[in-house]
Amino acid sequence: MKRIMLLATGGTIASKPSENGALAPAISADEILEFVPELKDICHIEAMELYDLDSTDMGPEQWIGIASAIRDNYDEFDGFVITHGTDTMAYTASALSYMIQHSRKPVILTGSQKSIYKRDTDARRNLIQAFTYAASDSAFGVQIVFDSKVILGSRARKVRSKSFNAFSSIDYPETAVFRDERLIPFLRPSEEEDEPCFSLKLDERVFVLRLIPGIKPDIFSMLYPSYRAVVIEGFGVGGLPGGEKGELLSSVRRWLSSGRLAVFSTQVWHEGSDLSVYEVGRIARELPGVLEARDMTPESIVTKLMWVLGKTEDPNEARRLFETPIMHDIL
Ligand code: ASP
Repeated sequence: MKRIMLLATGGTIASKPSENGALAPAISADEILEFVPELKDICHIEAMELYDLDSTDMGPEQWIGIASAIRDNYDEFDGFVITHGTDTMAYTASALSYMIQHSRKPVILTGSQKSIYKRDTDARRNLIQAFTYAASDSAFGVQIVFDSKVILGSRARKVRSKSFNAFSSIDYPETAVFRDERLIPFLRPSEEEDEPCFSLKLDERVFVLRLIPGIKPDIFSMLYPSYRAVVIEGFGVGGLPGGEKGELLSSVRRWLSSGRLAVFSTQVWHEGSDLSVYEVGRIARELPGVLEARDMTPESIVTKLMWVLGKTEDPNEARRLFETPIMHDIL
C-alpha cells in the first residue's frame, strides 16, 4: 500500500460556522480523515496540521512552509495531498509547480466548496479522488484534483465561486478525469520527472496593474519603492494605451531601464496575449527587455515572477528563466 502524507492548511473543507455564523477553519486533519473512513482502503495516510487558515490568508510564507514540509518528508512518502481553501488554491498550486520541479511523486491539492460536516458536501468525493489519484501509478507532479478532474497546477484557475465544478484547466488538456469512480489518465510523467528539485526562496515584490480605459500613467511612480516586477494586464491580445509618444509607454521604458521587470499579459481568460497583432501592442513589444506572458494563467505569471526574482538579481537571467517553460505553463 502506498504511503501518502496529508498536509492540512484550512479552507472551507475544514470550516465550521463560528458564533457569528461566518465560516472559519476549525476541523483538524485527523477529524477530516475520520469523516471519510474509506480512505484507509486506498492508501496508508499520515496527517500533518500545517495551518488552519482561510486561503485568503495564504501567501508566499505558507507556500514556502508547504514546500519545506514536502522536502523534509519526500523520501518517507510516495505522495502528498494538501487540503486547502479553494479561493487561492490556484496560486498555491502554481507556486508549488515552480518550487518543486521534476517530482515523479504527486503533490495534490484539493478542497471543497462546502464544508466536510455538511450533508451535501463535495469534500468526501474530492478527498477520495485526490487520494486515489495520488496513490495511482500514473500520478506525478503538482496537480489540483477537484470535481472529477485532475488539473496541472500551472494551468488551474478557480472559475466558479459557488458550484462544485469550481476549477478549470486553462488552454491545456486535463491530466486525468474520473468517470464513474474510474481514473482515466491522459497525461503521464515524462522521463524528466525523476529527481525532484526544490527551490524555497521567493521574492514577493510583484505587482499586477490591471489596465482600465482612461488609466493614468502616474501609477508607475508609486510602484518604485516596493516592487521589482510589474504585470501589465491589458485588453484583448494586449497593448498599451497612449501611443508611441504616450506617457504610459515612457513610464514602462523608465521602469525597464531601472533593471526591473515588466510583463505584458491579457485580462482575457483564454488564448493569451500576442503583442505582434496591433500597433498598440507593437509599441510595447519593442521596449527593450519587455516580457510577454502569452497563454500563461495570471496565477502562474505572478508566482513564476516571485520564484524568478527569488533566484536571481540579474534582469537578463530573470528574463531567461521567466521565458523557459515549466510544467507546460507557457506554450
Ligand atoms: N474562503 C474559503 C477559502 O478559500 C473558500 C473555500 O475553501 O472554498 O479558504
